[in-house]
Amino acid sequence: MKKILPTLAAASLMALSAQAAEDPNFKYNVDRFADIEVLRYEVPGFNQLSPRQKAMIYYLGQAAQMGRDIIWDQNCAYNLPIRQMLEAVYTGYTGDRTTEDWKNFETYMKQVWFANGIHHHYSTDKFTPAFPRTFLEAQVAAMPDKMPANASELIEVIFNPAIAAKRVCQDSSVDVVANSAGNFYAPGITQAEVEAYYEAIKDPNDPTPISYGLNARMDRNADGSLREDHYQLNGLYGPAIAKIIYYLSKAREYAENDAQKNYISTLIDYYITGDLRLFDEYSIAWAEDTASQVDFVNGFIESYGDPLGMSASWESYVNFKNIPSSQRTETISNNAQWFESNSPVDPRFRKEEVKGVSAKAINAAMLGGDAFPSTAIGINLPNANWIRAAHGSKSVTIENITEAYALASRGNGFNEEFVIDAPTTELLDKYLYTTDMLHTDLHECLGHASGRLLPGVDPDALKEHGSTLEETRADLFALYYLADPKLLELGILDNPDAYKAEYYKYLMNGLMTQLNRIELGNNVEEAHMRNRQLIAKWVLEHGKKDKVVELVKRGGKTYVKINDYRKLRNLFGQLLAEVQRIKSEGDYKAGAKLVNDYGVKIDPKLHKEVLDRYAKLNIPPYRGFINPVYVPTFGKNGEITDVTITYPENFVEQMLRLSRDYSTLTE
Ligand code: ZN
Repeated sequence: MKKILPTLAAASLMALSAQAAEDPNFKYNVDRFADIEVLRYEVPGFNQLSPRQKAMIYYLGQAAQMGRDIIWDQNCAYNLPIRQMLEAVYTGYTGDRTTEDWKNFETYMKQVWFANGIHHHYSTDKFTPAFPRTFLEAQVAAMPDKMPANASELIEVIFNPAIAAKRVCQDSSVDVVANSAGNFYAPGITQAEVEAYYEAIKDPNDPTPISYGLNARMDRNADGSLREDHYQLNGLYGPAIAKIIYYLSKAREYAENDAQKNYISTLIDYYITGDLRLFDEYSIAWAEDTASQVDFVNGFIESYGDPLGMSASWESYVNFKNIPSSQRTETISNNAQWFESNSPVDPRFRKEEVKGVSAKAINAAMLGGDAFPSTAIGINLPNANWIRAAHGSKSVTIENITEAYALASRGNGFNEEFVIDAPTTELLDKYLYTTDMLHTDLHECLGHASGRLLPGVDPDALKEHGSTLEETRADLFALYYLADPKLLELGILDNPDAYKAEYYKYLMNGLMTQLNRIELGNNVEEAHMRNRQLIAKWVLEHGKKDKVVELVKRGGKTYVKINDYRKLRNLFGQLLAEVQRIKSEGDYKAGAKLVNDYGVKIDPKLHKEVLDRYAKLNIPPYRGFINPVYVPTFGKNGEITDVTITYPENFVEQMLRLSRDYSTLTE
């Protein structure tokens, strides 16, 4: 039987794990290679769902997996044929599987699987294989009938560091479109051309603009002008979209209510036509559906993969509401107006009326596309600013994923190495799990949903810094309110010092430990990492005079020391006010300066120290998940009567099965 605490307040990690895990012997750890650890996640509560709900999850899960090839192709045009080539070698190799070359090949294969392509999922740098080029060439030559026609070109792509070096270039001193290997723009298209294209078609006075470019790859016409090729049934990715539509329509038969049935139909119509107005219509109806327990995301949603943040990567989350845990998020969303009206930002930039911010805790049941194997712990959608303002948004905290992360890292020595002293460690042990989850709630439910643009401000005005500054804003909102007595008053936290656990972890991560994810000599690139460093370094510098936060040396090692948590909260509030101003006014210059001054550069000495200390702990910097396998039972008329959840596979087995059964864009 499943037991979940109604609120997570005061639950230490150990207490929580004892009460929340459905199977105390559940094996979270699946595989380990390069800088990656693969986990599996439990789906507590699945067996208590009704047969109809399980059937819906089964079909939505099929739809989630059918889009896998789309993200591979979006990440880089070479990815699908390279996967074909590598998998043919992986399965067809008859040589010795204990040699160094083979082991290095296998690691590379797993890295490519995990990243949905040849670029690291986080740094977006192209992987460098540790096996020699001749090894791959020999295997390819040995099985020519299994190889794509352009195998030698693909080998050149893998081994030539000058080709497709970076998936998403964020260096604003160069042309970010021309220097990104992602497949959102045909080769030869420049940033200036794309910006001019959208400049010409955007209507700044449209109160309900479509999400320009969201479902399109840009290519060039014969006359040299640009055109959008839409991802739709009779367009780009048509064969994959056809399968997605098929399984969405099967899922629709098991929808929980008419509203859900209707917006699944609208989503299908959008996939058929590529009409972004229909996507908006679907998004509104989806955001307004708070009645259904089974829920999903399926589409071209987030645009982090496009250096200009226009075109979106395909992703899917299938999930269901975790009803007991949702009491916490519902309390927060019911008080959204209070948080907005009391925020430290200029009233001109606040929302006068916060509409329909719904929040819930969910358990993920299937991850797909860009959300797999690496995945988020919280989501807030839709992304369109005008929809959020007029119709609200839906915010979720993915509880079983958060739990899997926490339970898989018990006893790994991290706190002992990086946390400054025993009382702080104790604080983290006691409150970090709770406040981390709460930080996600506040970030997604209130942070992203807060604030407004001044009339006439282009929502894309912050350009390549837009994603970083948006995450900064949401994190600051969450950090500021974590320390607010309101949370005690609402019964969400039970100790006025609990927030300190999250504050300490946040600064330790932003100033030091996240550097473990970056190679020595590189800058911070990824939007969330930039945002975390930006906030941490800004408060370090602006609190210097009062010694609010310090980096101190103990026994030759650097530690974060927080001297004044109340003043730290005020600094978070000040920065929130400034970042909201930048967003509301579309102040690109100030935004770029903030990101470049605080979010990008790394002290090489500290960086090296962090890497060395981490190396001793042997903790993988990145983690992701394989999915469970759902086995349906069919009745006489082909209807699903029950679904069993199983965990039969390791990472390699799951990847090979997906390539075998869900390849929609190859062959
Ligand atoms: Zn966010």
